[in-house]
Amino acid sequence: MTDAASQPGSAVVTAAPPADAGPTEADWTAAVAAVRQLPADARVLLICHVNPDGDALGSMLGFGLGLRRLGVRRLQATFPGPPEVPEPFRGLPGLDLLVPATEAYPDPELVVCFDAASESRLGELADRLTGAGAAVVLDHHASNTGFGDVNLVDPRAAATSVVAEELLARLDVPLDAGIAECLYVALTTDTGSFRFEATTPAVHQMAARLLATGIRPGDISRRVFDTRPFGAVRLFGEVLGRARLEPAAAGGHGLVWTYATQDDLARHDQRPYVLEALIDSVRCTAEADVSCVVKQTTTGEWAVSLRSKGAVDVSRVAVALGGGGHRFAAGFTGRGTVDEVVDGIRAELPGALLKPTNA
Ligand code: 5GP
Ligand code: MN
Repeated sequence: MTDAASQPGSAVVTAAPPADAGPTEADWTAAVAAVRQLPADARVLLICHVNPDGDALGSMLGFGLGLRRLGVRRLQATFPGPPEVPEPFRGLPGLDLLVPATEAYPDPELVVCFDAASESRLGELADRLTGAGAAVVLDHHASNTGFGDVNLVDPRAAATSVVAEELLARLDVPLDAGIAECLYVALTTDTGSFRFEATTPAVHQMAARLLATGIRPGDISRRVFDTRPFGAVRLFGEVLGRARLEPAAAGGHGLVWTYATQDDLARHDQRPYVLEALIDSVRCTAEADVSCVVKQTTTGEWAVSLRSKGAVDVSRVAVALGGGGHRFAAGFTGRGTVDEVVDGIRAELPGALLKPTNA
């Protein structure tokens, strides 16, 4: 806690919210106070989750640009692991806020975390939560552990950027095109460009507010979702060519899966982030409810992406295997061979069924 946050009448320390309930008024008040009561020279560190996606980076940088507008001068944004921003996000406004994890303030007065359901998603930066400063958590995972001093966790929010936009509004920061572009990338990432179930009227209303700043959705979407190197196109062809369909898995709802190794990446001279888009080409398989891409990160270790169309709660599978996520999109770190990782998933599927078996 900072001195500011522990002063009477300022930040209220909040416990983890019950699943499905959004932040309370007290939570919002505490978060606003944690920002407003910062001393002028306070150091603020923004952290998003490892292997950042569009929501992690977009909500963090959009909020960071908002803090800059509020006059916060000593401001850094960072994420654990190698300080490499995936190519699709290299045009985001606010990238100048980014510093490598190794250069992040060791003891900031305020830490704000984005899109991370637990401390483990902050990797080596998790120690910043235990310093002298206050930690405010912005997230939308139902599995969020409430690891902040103030937790703005809304499982009904389509993206963390929904929470970020509301906090900026409560801080009286007007949207400008830079902030809006970041929040728009985040919102489109987590709603699958307004295709997923999470696409509520409120999501479209937020998109309207963002677009009203003059940002160009066609340019942004092409850059973020529809551009990849030719080598990645060829790599996708190879990896999709080895996909396996198991119609009997998941109580007869079906499983489709494939994998990509570091050798695959090297052969096509590609960086790991290009594999993030693969799951979208796999999950369109009509014959399977559950889809999975197993991506090698190092020898014997794999980043696993899981998706479901509604018959299975894949977050249950991921949590059972040490990861987390949402009902229909989740992930975990797998260990061993590809076959061992997929065996582990297959074993968890029956316990994660939301619909009767299809046998
Ligand atoms: P993706 O497959 O796009 O990497 O992740 C899908 C969802 O699962 C995201 O909401 C992400 O936060 C979550 N997720 C992915 N990998 C992990 C993991 O290793 N641990 C946890 N806790 N969540 C993960
Ligand atoms: Mn998210």
